[in-house]
Amino acid sequence: MHLSKLFTKTSKNLPADETALNAQLLIKAGYVHKEMAGVYSFLPLGLKVLENIKQIVREEMDAIGGQELIMSSLQPKETWQKTNRWDDKTVDIWFKSKLKNGTEVGFGWSHEEPIVEMMKNHVSSYKDLPSYVYQFQTKLRNELRSKSGIMRGREFVMKDMYSASLDQKDHDKFYQDCIEAYHRVFDRLGIGGETFLTFASGGAFTEFSHEFQTICDAGEDTIYLSRSKKIAVNKEVLNDDVLKKLGLKRDELEEVKSAEVGNIFDFNVIKSKEMGFKYTDEAGKIQFVHLGSYGIGISRLMGVLVEKFADDKGIVWPEAVAPAKVYLISVGEDNKITDQANQIYKELKDSGVEVLFDDRSVGPGQKFADAELIGIPLRVVVSEKSLEAGGLEYKKRTSNDTEIVSVKELLDRVAN
Ligand code: ATP
Ligand code: MG
Repeated sequence: MHLSKLFTKTSKNLPADETALNAQLLIKAGYVHKEMAGVYSFLPLGLKVLENIKQIVREEMDAIGGQELIMSSLQPKETWQKTNRWDDKTVDIWFKSKLKNGTEVGFGWSHEEPIVEMMKNHVSSYKDLPSYVYQFQTKLRNELRSKSGIMRGREFVMKDMYSASLDQKDHDKFYQDCIEAYHRVFDRLGIGGETFLTFASGGAFTEFSHEFQTICDAGEDTIYLSRSKKIAVNKEVLNDDVLKKLGLKRDELEEVKSAEVGNIFDFNVIKSKEMGFKYTDEAGKIQFVHLGSYGIGISRLMGVLVEKFADDKGIVWPEAVAPAKVYLISVGEDNKITDQANQIYKELKDSGVEVLFDDRSVGPGQKFADAELIGIPLRVVVSEKSLEAGGLEYKKRTSNDTEIVSVKELLDRVAN
C-alpha cells in the first residue's frame, strides 16, 4: 500500500475528551476515528489489525471444532423474556427501540439467548451433539463509563462461542479444549506470558467462571496472581475460602491491574431449562442440553496490544497483527532512489510481504516519525546514504540499531 494514496493521515490533533492512551495513539496514527464517547470507527489500517486478530482467533476456534456464523443485531423481546433478561432492571446496558408498528426490539449486547433459540431448530437428538458455534459480532452496550478508549466501547467487536453438549463430562472436555485454544490465541498475539487464567464469579450458574486477564495498567480489573502456578483470582471473588479451595496463600499473591480479554462460562442446564432446549438421548429419554459460553474481546485486545507495547514514539504492533510487515521509506526525489524503492516494493509484494510504502512528498523527518507512530515491525530506508553504503537501511521497530543490508538479504529475512 502506498501511503501517498492512503486517505487517512497521521495527526497531532486529538478529540479534547480522549484520555486513553490506546485511543490517542490509534487516532493520531489514523487507525480509528472517534464518533463519540465509547464509539469508534475502524479505518483501513485499523481494520487490517482487527481482521488479523480475528483470523488468529478464527483459526483456533475452527481447530477445536467451532462453526462460524453471524447472528443479527436486532433481537426480539420474547427471546429474552424467557430468561427474565429483557427488563432494564436485570440487564442495565440494553439499547432498545421500536418497530414502526410498536413492536419492541433490542440491539444485541449478547447473543446467548438468541443462539439457544436458533439452535433449538437444529438440535433435537443426541446425534446432533456436541455442537459448537461462534461468531464475530459488534455488540451494542449502553455502558455507564467509557474512559478506556477502545478497551471499553459502547459498540465493540466480540468473538462469542457457544457449546451445546450432552452432559457435564462432554462439556468439561470442550471447556478444557477451549482453555487451551485461548492460551494459543494469546501466545500468538504476543501476550501469552502476561495473560492468566483467572477465577471469577460464576454468577447464577457455577461457583466460578474463568476469565483471561492480561496484566495491563490501563485495565479496569484487579487480580491477585500466582506466577509460579500461572493462575489468578479476580479481586471480586477473593476471600479466604476461595484461596483455600485453590491451594493458594495470600503472601504468594501479587496484586496487579489487568484487562479481561476473554471469559468462559459453564451454564450447565440452567439456561436450557429456562428456554426449553432439549434432546432425546440414546435410550429415548428427554434431556436438557448442557451449555457453555466463551467470549473474547477482539477490539479490546487491539487496545490492550497498543497499551502494552507502545513506547514514547508510538505504537509497536506484534508482527502477528501488524497491518504490514515492512514500512518502506524513500528519502529524496532522485530517480536512482525512487527506482530502487519501487523495485524493493515490488519484490516484497511478489514474495507475499505486506508493505506500507511511504512515498509521500514530505520531509524525511515526518516519514521517520510516522514510521514510529504507526508501529510497523520493520523499517527499511532507501536513501543516497544507504545506497552509498551498499544497500538499504534496516531497523526493527523495537530497536534503535540500524544496519545496512542488500536487497537479497532483506528478502531472505522478511520472506520467511
Ligand atoms: P467487563 O467485565 O469488562 O464489562 P463482561 O463481563 O461484560 O466484561 P462479556 O459480556 O462476557 O464481558 O464479554 C466477553 C468479552 O468481551 C469480555 O471478556 C471482554 O474482553 C469483552 N468486552 C466486554 N465488554 C466490553 C466493552 N464494553 N468494550 C470492549 N470489549 C468488551
Ligand atoms: Mg460488562
